[in-house]
Amino acid sequence: MISGNQIRSDFLGFFESRDHQVVPSSPIVPRNDPTLMFTNSGMVQFKDVFTGLETRPYSRATTSQKSVRAGGKHNDLDNVGYTARHHTFFEMLGNFSFGDYFKDVAIEQAWTVSTQVFGLPKEKIIVTVHATDDEAAELWKKIAGLPDERIIRINSDDNWWRMGDTGPNGPCSELFYDHGPEVWGGPPGSPEEDGDRFIEFWNLVFMQFETHADGSSTPLPKPSIDTGMGLERVTTILQNKHNNYDTDLFQPIIQASAELTGHAPDGDMVTSHRVIADHLRCASFLIAEGVLPSNEGRGYVLRRIMRRGMRHAHLLGAKDPLMHRLAPALIDLMGGHYTELREAQGLIRETLRAEEERFKTTLDRGLKLLDAEIEGLDEGAPLPGDTAFKLYDTYGFPVDLTADILRGAGREVDQDGYDAAMQAQKAKARAAWSGTGDAGNAKVWYDVRDRVGATEFLGYADIRAGATV
Ligand code: ATP
Ligand code: MG
Ligand code: MG
Ligand code: MG
Repeated sequence: MISGNQIRSDFLGFFESRDHQVVPSSPIVPRNDPTLMFTNSGMVQFKDVFTGLETRPYSRATTSQKSVRAGGKHNDLDNVGYTARHHTFFEMLGNFSFGDYFKDVAIEQAWTVSTQVFGLPKEKIIVTVHATDDEAAELWKKIAGLPDERIIRINSDDNWWRMGDTGPNGPCSELFYDHGPEVWGGPPGSPEEDGDRFIEFWNLVFMQFETHADGSSTPLPKPSIDTGMGLERVTTILQNKHNNYDTDLFQPIIQASAELTGHAPDGDMVTSHRVIADHLRCASFLIAEGVLPSNEGRGYVLRRIMRRGMRHAHLLGAKDPLMHRLAPALIDLMGGHYTELREAQGLIRETLRAEEERFKTTLDRGLKLLDAEIEGLDEGAPLPGDTAFKLYDTYGFPVDLTADILRGAGREVDQDGYDAAMQAQKAKARAAWSGTGDAGNAKVWYDVRDRVGATEFLGYADIRAGATV
C-alpha cells in the first residue's frame, strides 16, 4: 500500500520532471496578505506572481502547501467530525503556471497524474466544468476520452474562482472520485452531492480574465494555472478507504489516542478520536509557527480548536491532559517533511499541556452545568444566550464549542441572546474602567500581569474566569 508520504513525493516528483520548480510550503500565517487569517490554499504565496507584481526565476512551480481552513472566508471547523473529507489543517498539493502553460496542459497533467502516476481507474473519475467553459469540456473529451455524462457542467460561483472583487479570475474544473455505491451520495450538482460517495479531490483553476474597478472584464494576455489537490483525500482513494481518517496520515495518531485512553476507535468513540487527531495536527502546526492560544485573532482560533479537542478527550474519559502526549506520534509521522515540527517539539508539547491543564477544571464543571441546562429545556428549544455567555465568561467555553456540543443533542445556541449578553458585559466593563483610578481594578491588572506576563493580556472575560487565564 502506498503511503501518504510517498504520494506527496510522487506528486512533487512528477511535476519536477515536467520542469516545475519544487517550492517549499509557505507559512500558515501569511506573510504577504494582512487581510488573510491563514494560508488556505497553495496559490496564496504566489498571489503577487499571478498579478504580475512580483516575478520569480521560474514560470512553473509545484508545492505541498500547509493549509488551514478554520477561520475567515474558508472555515471547515464545523465540518470536522461530520464529513469524511474535511480537516482544519490539510496539505494541498498543487502545480502552478505563471503565464506559461494553460488549460490543455493543465488538464493533460491532471489526467496523467490521476490515471498513470496514481493509477486511478478511469471509470471512477468524473469532472465538472463551468457551464460556460466549452473549451474545458472539449479538452476533457479529447484528452481523457470522458463521455459527456461524466463531464458535468456547473453554473455556479463554486466553479468560478476569483482573487477578489477585482483582479484575476476564471472558471474551475474539478475532479471527483466515485467511492462506489456502498457509500451514500450523488454526483456534483445532484441533490445528494453532500454525501461521501463522490469526493472532489482536485481543483483546477484557469485564471483567464481580469476584472477591473469599473466592473468590466478583459481576457488576461498571459493566462495562468492554479491547482489544488488534497493530499488526505487522494491518500484515502489510493489506500482504498472511504474516510480520510482511516489513512496512514491519521491512523498512527488515532492509535496512540486509543492506547492512551483505552477506548478503541470504533462505535461512538471514533468521532472523538478523529476530531482529536485533526485538532492536534492543526494546533501543532500553528504553535510551531509561533501562534499561541489567546483571546483574539489567530490565537483565539487556536484556543478554540484546542478546547474542542480537549472536550473530545474528556468524552474519551481522559483524566489527564491527553493532547500533548499525542504530539510525538504526529511528529514521528510528519516531522520528516515538515522539520519545523521537530524543531518546535518542546514548545508544542508544553503549550498543549498548559492549555489543557488550565481548561480542565472549568471544562468538567461547565459540561455538568450544560448537561443540567439541556435537561431543563423544552423539546427542541435553543440554549438561552445568557447560559452560553456564562459558559464563555465563567468556564472558558468558546461559543462555537458550546454550539458543537449542542449540535450533538440536536439543539442550537440562541446566538442573538448570546451577543446581547456579550454587549452588556462589555458596556459594564467600560463603565467600571472609565478612569476612576479604582485601586481594586488596578490590582486585577497587576495580578494578571504577574501571572501571564505583560505582553499577553487575555481580556476581561478571562480575568473573571480566573482558571482560564
Ligand atoms: P469541498 O467542496 O470538498 O469543501 P473545496 O471546493 O472547498 O472542497 P478547494 O477550495 O477547491 O476545496 O481546494 C482544493 C482541494 O483541496 C480540494 O479539491 C480538496 O481536495 C482539498 N480540500 C479543500 N478543503 C479541504 C479540507 N477542509 N480538508 C481537506 N482537504 C481539503
Ligand atoms: Mg470547501
Ligand atoms: Mg468544492
Ligand atoms: Mg473545489
